[in-house]
Amino acid sequence: LLPLGAFMAAFIIGMVVWLSRRRLSPLGELQIAVRKREFIVHYQPIVELRTGNCIGAEALVRWKRPNGSLVRPDLFIPLAEESGLITAITDQVIALVVFDLNRLLVADRSIHIAINLSATDVSTARVLPVIEKALQHTGIEPQQIWLEATERGFVDINSARSTVVRARELGHAVVIDDFGTGYSSLSYLEGLPLDALKIDKSFIDTISTNSATSSVTPHIIGMAKTLKLKIVAEGVETQAQADYLVEHDVEYGQGWLFARPMPAAEFIAYCRQAKAP
Ligand code: C2E
Ligand code: CA
Ligand code: CA
Ligand code: CA
Repeated sequence: LLPLGAFMAAFIIGMVVWLSRRRLSPLGELQIAVRKREFIVHYQPIVELRTGNCIGAEALVRWKRPNGSLVRPDLFIPLAEESGLITAITDQVIALVVFDLNRLLVADRSIHIAINLSATDVSTARVLPVIEKALQHTGIEPQQIWLEATERGFVDINSARSTVVRARELGHAVVIDDFGTGYSSLSYLEGLPLDALKIDKSFIDTISTNSATSSVTPHIIGMAKTLKLKIVAEGVETQAQADYLVEHDVEYGQGWLFARPMPAAEFIAYCRQAKAP
């Protein structure tokens, strides 16, 4: 009897260990991460190119695994978009921005935070009441929250337009992100009440190189000016690029030349120091 009992016990323990170590699918892991709220936000300063003043930041999500490692968003955002988990992640990012920066944003009205919206958020507008609710009782002004949307959100142009219109009625600025990387016609831009356009890093990379695409960048800048949009240049890494952008009247920039994405506490310190006269 004893050997049989020992065998059974060993078998059960073995099963339990096997079950607990069994690798979950990537989707299963992401579902657990959403349930356990394993996300954090880093903030990358956006500066006024002429002065170097910090005018705000872009909120960039990271998945903090239980072992402490950070997973880059491009490794899980596509799966989150495909599976619909992205809306829950967007909501967590909104809550984190409010939690991390409430005091800074109330103390300094000139600071804004840009939040990335998914295509679903743009096509359904479901995110707008979520933001409204998150800002209640905080003292943060809706004007301090900018919303970044990529062209993928504009496939259904009519619902996208109503989201943009509603967002601006609420006081948010709407920024078209990764501008120039989509393949859709740009004519839809004319019918949208946008505030700013973010030039994708791939175009900034071509500045002061002899690459064939370098001639596109001035056209993008020209188009933004025709549409009377503010411009934010993304991925500015060199002083030569910053100089070029200032020469071409691009107001704002973001990139490693100024600062990398950083935790909230560091961003708050960066902002104070970058603003000091
Ligand atoms: P994005 O919106 O185009 O964000 C800019 C990306 O460029 C960030 O990568 C940023 O760290 C990186 N970057 C900025 N300046 C430089 C530079 O000078 N050099 C280089 N090499 N890179 C620079 P990150 O944080 O890995 O984010 C990647 C993408 O993930 C974002 O691209 C965005 O599409 C997506 N993402 C990030 N956070 C969120 C979020 O909360 N929601 C959604 N839906 N998407 C997000
Ligand atoms: Ca963005
Ligand atoms: Ca971008
Ligand atoms: Ca980009």
